[in-house]
Amino acid sequence: MSLAQPLQDRFGRRIDYLRLSVTDRCDMRCSYCMPQGFSDYEEPQDWLTFEEIERVVASFARMGTSRFRITGGEPLLRRDLSGLATRLARLPGVTDMSLSTNGTQLVRYATDLKAAGITRLNVSLDSLCAERLHRITRRDALAQILDGLLVAKSCGFEPIKINMVVMAGVNEDEIEAMADYCFRHGFVLRLIETMPMGETGRNAGYVDLQPIRQRLQARFGLVDGIVGGGGPARYLVAPDGKGSIGFITPMSQHFCETCNRVRLSVDRHRIETGAPRVS
Ligand code: SAM
Ligand code: SF4
Repeated sequence: MSLAQPLQDRFGRRIDYLRLSVTDRCDMRCSYCMPQGFSDYEEPQDWLTFEEIERVVASFARMGTSRFRITGGEPLLRRDLSGLATRLARLPGVTDMSLSTNGTQLVRYATDLKAAGITRLNVSLDSLCAERLHRITRRDALAQILDGLLVAKSCGFEPIKINMVVMAGVNEDEIEAMADYCFRHGFVLRLIETMPMGETGRNAGYVDLQPIRQRLQARFGLVDGIVGGGGPARYLVAPDGKGSIGFITPMSQHFCETCNRVRLSVDRHRIETGAPRVS
C-alpha cells in the first residue's frame, strides 16, 4: 500500500526509516552508554505492547516509511521478539527489517529471527580481547558473542555489520585486528565516534576518526564506496571485494542534514525525532 504524501519533517528531510526501541533494558553496561549501576528503567506497564507497535509501524508504512530497525536497550531481552518481527515483516509497505543487538543472545535466537523476516544485523563488538570487552561492557561475554556471530552467519543474515565504538586508550589499538576479523568472516566493520550522551558518553574517550580513516585506506588499499543500509555511515571498500569499513562520525563530520529517520521509544508516553543514536 502506498501513500499520497511521503513523510517529511519540517526541515524537508524525507523520513523513510524508523528505529524502533522495544525495551530500554540491557544485560550489559557499556561505559559510553549506561552508568554502571543503572536500573532506572521504564516500568513494563509503560511499554508499548506488540499490538501498539504493530499499529504504529503499519501507520508509518502507509506513509511510505518502508525500513524498520528493531533496537533497544537490548532488543533480544524483550520476550517473543521473533513473534513481533513476524507480525511487522508481514505488514504491507514494510520492505526491510533489521535488528541491532549486543549479540549475547544470538546463539539462541538467530534462527527464529531470520525465519521471522529480519534480514540484516548490526552487532556491537568493541574488542576481541575478553578481558577488555569485560571492562567496557561490564560483562564477560566475548565467547558468547563470537559464537552468536557464527550462528547468525550460518543463518544467512546479510549483511552483518559490526559496530565498534572507538575509545582513546581503550580499544583504538585494535582497529586493524577488528578489520582483519571482519574481512575474514565477511562482516562489515563500522567504526563509531563516541557521542556525549550525558556523563557516560562524555567520559568515554572521544577519538576523531578522520586520521584513522586515512590510515586504514592506505593499509588495506580501500577506496570510497557504497554499502546499503540507509544509515549515516560513510564507507571505504576494498576493490577486490575483500571487505568494507564504515565510519560513523557524529562529532568530526555531522550528518544531521541527511538524517532520514525517526525513533520510537518503548515508553508509550514519548516519541522522538532525529538520530542521536546510531545503531
Ligand atoms: N544493545 C544494542 C547494541 O548494543 O547494539 C542496541 C542498542 S545500542 C544503544 C545501539 C548502538 O549505539 C550500539 O552500536 C552502541 O555501540 C551505540 N552507542 C551507544 N552509546 C553510544 C555513544 N555514547 N556513542 C556512540 N555510540 C553509542
Ligand atoms: Fe546495552 Fe547496547 Fe547500550 Fe551496550 S550499547 S549498554 S549493549 S544498549
